[in-house]
Amino acid sequence: MEKHIKNLNEQQLEAVTSTEGYVRVIAGAGSGKTKALTSRYAYIVETLGISASNILCVTFTNKASREMRLRVKKLIGDQHDLSYITTYHGFCVRVLREDINKIGYPKNFVIMDVEDQKTILRDIYNEFGITSKLITFKQVLRHISRRKSSQEYLDYIINPTKKEPKNDLDKIFYRYLQKQQRNFALDFDDLINFTLYIFLTDKVVFEKWKQRLHYIQVDEMQDSSEKQFRLVSMLSETHKNLFVVGDPDQTIYEWRGARPEFLVDFNQQFPSSKTILMNQNYRSTPNILTLGNHIIKNNKVRVDKDMFTQNPQGVEVVHFHAKNESEEGNWIAEEISRLVSKEVCNFSDFAILYRANHISRSIEQALVKKNIPYTIFGGIRFFERKEIKDILSYLRMVEFEDDISFLRIINTPSRGLGKKFIEEVSMIAENDNISLYSALQKNIASDGLNRKGAKDFIDLIEEFQKLRSKKKISDLIKIILDQSGLTELFRTDGDTDRLDNLIELQNSIIAFESEDEDISLDEFLQEITLYSDVDLEEDQGDKVKLMTIHTSKGLEFPFVFLCGFNEGILPSAMSIKERRAKAIEEERRLTYVAITRAEKALYLTESEGYNFSTGQNKQPSRFLFEINENFLVRKGEFRKDVDDSHLRMPSRLTGIPIDQEFKVGDIIEHKVWDEGEVIEVNREKGEYLIYFSLIDSKKPINFEFKGLTLIES
Ligand code: ATP
Ligand code: MG
Repeated sequence: MEKHIKNLNEQQLEAVTSTEGYVRVIAGAGSGKTKALTSRYAYIVETLGISASNILCVTFTNKASREMRLRVKKLIGDQHDLSYITTYHGFCVRVLREDINKIGYPKNFVIMDVEDQKTILRDIYNEFGITSKLITFKQVLRHISRRKSSQEYLDYIINPTKKEPKNDLDKIFYRYLQKQQRNFALDFDDLINFTLYIFLTDKVVFEKWKQRLHYIQVDEMQDSSEKQFRLVSMLSETHKNLFVVGDPDQTIYEWRGARPEFLVDFNQQFPSSKTILMNQNYRSTPNILTLGNHIIKNNKVRVDKDMFTQNPQGVEVVHFHAKNESEEGNWIAEEISRLVSKEVCNFSDFAILYRANHISRSIEQALVKKNIPYTIFGGIRFFERKEIKDILSYLRMVEFEDDISFLRIINTPSRGLGKKFIEEVSMIAENDNISLYSALQKNIASDGLNRKGAKDFIDLIEEFQKLRSKKKISDLIKIILDQSGLTELFRTDGDTDRLDNLIELQNSIIAFESEDEDISLDEFLQEITLYSDVDLEEDQGDKVKLMTIHTSKGLEFPFVFLCGFNEGILPSAMSIKERRAKAIEEERRLTYVAITRAEKALYLTESEGYNFSTGQNKQPSRFLFEINENFLVRKGEFRKDVDDSHLRMPSRLTGIPIDQEFKVGDIIEHKVWDEGEVIEVNREKGEYLIYFSLIDSKKPINFEFKGLTLIES
């Protein structure tokens, strides 16, 4: 049998060979959806003989798309152009690089990230005399993103007309659009909006792309937004081959517009479609699988799946309760050391997952103390760090002479060109409708702008521009760092991390160059705009991996620690405050995603102490109590003298026995689920059945549980 379809089960084989028409796969975590998708890709290329440049394969995150490309490479080798295995954003950039000129933009448009957006905003605030105390950047960015959820603004960008802003936020919004337009800059929301706009308004271009993409495949479909779904379904209109896979239980981006119903209702949208279900889990031990199922089945809005596995039983799942964060971190570090020294596994077999970035700090400290090598995925994205942005802005300035880079570096390091000076340059640029850099160049001789610092800046940029075609990018960066004074600046800052990061950047460029010797500065800059730290820090060394649950999506690791498993963290304080069952359900799905990353062993850890986001003492996550006792081994002690939190634990954990206290009809208060009514008292089992309206659910609660207070008898 051909290599790429060997080892597939019946359903996977069906998914692979059902290449024509609309096909959907719905299946739980670890059932081999991504495997089926990558094998199908290989099948289309190798068995059907279709060129890879006719197959679009999209997924949600950079990390997942790289992973997918790797898996495909393993199947069909690397003589194919796999650049259409990408993210939605990556694909939109492809379309725009080819066709954005149809709406009057140059093909080397600039892609802005959040830092660039803020640079523009700073300039606008200056101009309007607004301070970020009055309106925060966050507020404005949210407003911009909201206004961009409809396509209306595109008409304005493409044909600027006079607008009467309704309020300050709107005034900033329109100014932002003007500045974007002047710089031919696109932010992340624009990428898909521009693409859809071009497809909807230019029949010839749309036809070309529809013709080109004979096969379209989407992984992690449950997290696609309405626009993303529209994009792929529009593109499939000609050849009508659209293959989508996903798991509604793993929807974790609803807060960012994910619409799982497109996966769930796919058969209604495409009545001729075929649905394939997969039930066998190949990733995890039965212990881990059962635990995941226990938790997820508490979600109301879902279709139950019947998953099984033939994997060996493996070890039991462990719950560790620590007295404080540092004990939690130390215990994790200890466990990792123990297993590695027993030669059961390597450091790189471990992943430590958490709901929020800040949780990593105490874990990191413990790992450092024990000399355990680790790498963090996420956090501040590498390319968003100040020092990296600064040097990249120099490169961009050399290439594009754009205003955003100009503003960032004109006075970094300081050349004595303050706010006032920049305002003057801005005014000239505004009047003559030219870029800031041109304004500076043109007017350098005039009295107002004749400053030594300005002259130095222009000389510097011109010097770099001369070197651009002669030097490799890695060499050019070294020269810029030294001559611009950036190295000196960071050295005197005393922040060695910054210098380390710059060295890391140079290493990554050397890696780029070894893959593609002739990479131009333009290409390089375009490429990295789409990167996050993951791409750079993913060095293969033997290191423990730390990341948020969101980042771990679609991945798998032999040993997984889910840490910070507390109320106010997972579920987040925000979702608890919202008091909507829907918000809690998304948190439960996150928990499910985390648990189902584990192959061989899973640890759930949490600790006591103060939680700054809730302002209360920490409690174990409510999801912990949804797991049947028999499926966990508990470690760590609940102490009576720490705070009152132990009182709310079942006596099996505290060791304090207690009898029935409430009767049917009593109204009680539960610290997590608020008010509830006792519906039933089951003496045999020693538990109440209590209805909680907050979660619209009846829960069995042990007599011994001390966290209930009587409100009304
Ligand atoms: P997720 O929902 O988490 O993205 P998934 O459904 O995409 O999971 P995969 O990542 O494709 O699952 O597969 C999980 C693991 O099971 C992988 O290690 C994969 O190689 C393995 N696997 C999948 N199908 C088979 C099979 N038929 N035989 C053996 N191993 C398999
Ligand atoms: Mg997958």
